[in-house]
Amino acid sequence: MSETTDTIFGKIARKEIPADIVYEDNLAIAFKDVNPQAPVHILVIPKQPIAKLADVESQDHALLGHLLLTAKRVADQVGLTNGYRIVINNGPEGGQTVYHLHLHILGGRQMGWPPG
Ligand code: AMP
Repeated sequence: MSETTDTIFGKIARKEIPADIVYEDNLAIAFKDVNPQAPVHILVIPKQPIAKLADVESQDHALLGHLLLTAKRVADQVGLTNGYRIVINNGPEGGQTVYHLHLHILGGRQMGWPPG
């Protein structure tokens, strides 16, 4: 998928299309993945349309910290007490398909290593 300035996640952030939202604040929104790869699979995105991790700059450090703290908060909220995995796919070889930065929260089963 090519990079664009707008994506389906931008539309979710602007409430133009529906999503199963589990958390929202002024900077971030978290919603269930439509094609879950684990019993719990939630995406955390910034409302600001950053395409991918490789595009962030030092001025984004507070936002990046906020996204990670949001992932931890959501994992706590949904009861992932036995652990979970946070994934950021970046670019083609990273397996990124939607070019709006997002953190995957995966949980509810034993994770393997290495990932595919
Ligand atoms: P990535 O491959 O890291 O870019 O992840 C994109 C993720 O977005 C995939 O896990 C998809 O299942 C998920 N996804 C795509 N469209 C939607 C949507 N409309 N609502 C929720 N999740 C979506």
